[in-house]
Amino acid sequence: MAKLTNKTALVTGSSRGIGRATAQRLAAEGALVAVHYASNDDAARETVELIEKDGGRAFTVRAELGVPGDVHELFLGLERGLKERTGATTLDIVVNNAAVTTPAGVLPEDVTPEEFERLFAVNAKAPFFIVQRALALLRDGGRIINISSGLTRCANPDQVAYSMTKGAVEQITLHFARHLAPRGITVNSVAPGITNNGGPVFDIPEAVEQMAQLSAFKRVGEAVDVADVVTFLATHEARWITGAFIDASGGTLLG
Ligand code: NDP
Repeated sequence: MAKLTNKTALVTGSSRGIGRATAQRLAAEGALVAVHYASNDDAARETVELIEKDGGRAFTVRAELGVPGDVHELFLGLERGLKERTGATTLDIVVNNAAVTTPAGVLPEDVTPEEFERLFAVNAKAPFFIVQRALALLRDGGRIINISSGLTRCANPDQVAYSMTKGAVEQITLHFARHLAPRGITVNSVAPGITNNGGPVFDIPEAVEQMAQLSAFKRVGEAVDVADVVTFLATHEARWITGAFIDASGGTLLG
């Protein structure tokens, strides 16, 4: 029997990559999924089509995060979509997945204030206000899953500003876990290592081979490797886990 029947879920940034795989897995367990994205309409529609082809239910919600009014726009679309399909705006699962990264090879000396602010606006501020806004919709016993990164546990100077935003995401997890425990809502962080998100670098065999060496399993992660962990945290079986940092990096952090 599907584990998320009659549940509703918001997955930010689910037009592609880990978010798409997560939306697919949650829908496969019976959840109605809001597929959020910034601008790639075709990719978001494709996520919904893939879900529907598998017998699941999903709809798209477009809202660019990191700009004024972002979370309000997201929730207008989310509430409209939920209401049309369920007659209510109740939400059970929030996955804060959307994020932007620093381009490779940017030294700490070269990070600009504008780039720093953009990273924090999308990766840290938006997830905080998404959680804040979701509180009124979330059913008791709900789930919040924040996608962090293994980079909060190992140094990579090129990604210092990005990693700082993920440190902030883990603080959202810690403090909201305590705040929401009386309602039986769990809040956890999932930290992927290098994960194939369909980006161009994953088409270069030499680059993939090099990245694979970082994992204890000597391969790069697939989006579904992370999506399965997120989906488990969304189920009833994960009810006793809250405030946790879950390493979903394929052993990258073992050193
Ligand atoms: P992708 O880059 O493949 O996809 C990003 C998603 O987020 C897309 O759906 C995109 O929408 C959306 N998005 C990006 N910027 C915004 C914005 N400003 N407003 C709204 N939506 C936005 O992501 P990944 O699958 O690589 O990463 C998913 C998560 O996992 C992120 O939190 C990332 O930091 C984390 N992570 C990823 C790793 C990896 O190796 N892939 C490693 C460690 C952590 P659109 O399609 O419209 O642009």
